[in-house]
Amino acid sequence: MNSAGGTPSAPYYEEAGGAGGGPDDQGADGSSGGSSGSRANEGADAGAMGSGGATGDGECPYSGDVKYRLNGAENWPEDIREKLSAALEEAVWYYNCYSDLSHDLTINYRDGVPTAEGNVDGVISFGSDRGYMVVATVMHEIGHTMGVGYYPWQELIEDQRWVGPAVVEYITNLPAEQRDPDMYSQRDYITADNQHFWPYGLNQASEHQSEWSLINHVRIVAAINEDKDAYRATH
Ligand SMILES: [Zn+2]
Repeated sequence: MNSAGGTPSAPYYEEAGGAGGGPDDQGADGSSGGSSGSRANEGADAGAMGSGGATGDGECPYSGDVKYRLNGAENWPEDIREKLSAALEEAVWYYNCYSDLSHDLTINYRDGVPTAEGNVDGVISFGSDRGYMVVATVMHEIGHTMGVGYYPWQELIEDQRWVGPAVVEYITNLPAEQRDPDMYSQRDYITADNQHFWPYGLNQASEHQSEWSLINHVRIVAAINEDKDAYRATH
């Protein structure tokens, strides 16, 4: 599946038959992208729990209620448990700090899962590929649990652009200094296909370029939910 909109290196791929909101996988390929070392807020070396944030004042502008539990973690390899826990802690922190979204997530680990799969029911499954156990990938999958790729979805896309007003307002007014440096992060619109959006969709781990990659991801998922709620209220 390509994106006719001319996306430079479409930042995702889809598995066959993934049309319309099933669990998906992610095109992360082990390139680990950013790390806590790339946090935008110098001096906020907050580690996995992240107490700083790009706002710099140490206070969260939002108060989400995203929680997770590891399903049967006593039987997981220890390094998997550690890697996933660290990535989840950081990912959930960003969601709770930069959105008012809530969800109770169940985290599965199964050898047979080739990548990582997030479902709107709140279940995220990881396979044994440690390359997916990074904050950007976990946030991407949380995005699916928050409704990315699920109805109403195509209903809010025209010509591969998200047309819901909350998202349009956010990306149009996003200041240059809060954007990632690559070309497509400068756009004043969000592109979407039947499952994913970009920029800031964190569709590959390498899209984690700065802390703004993570914050904008969460803000856009929150705006998507605003638009979805508004759509549901009138349809
Ligand atoms: Zn995905």
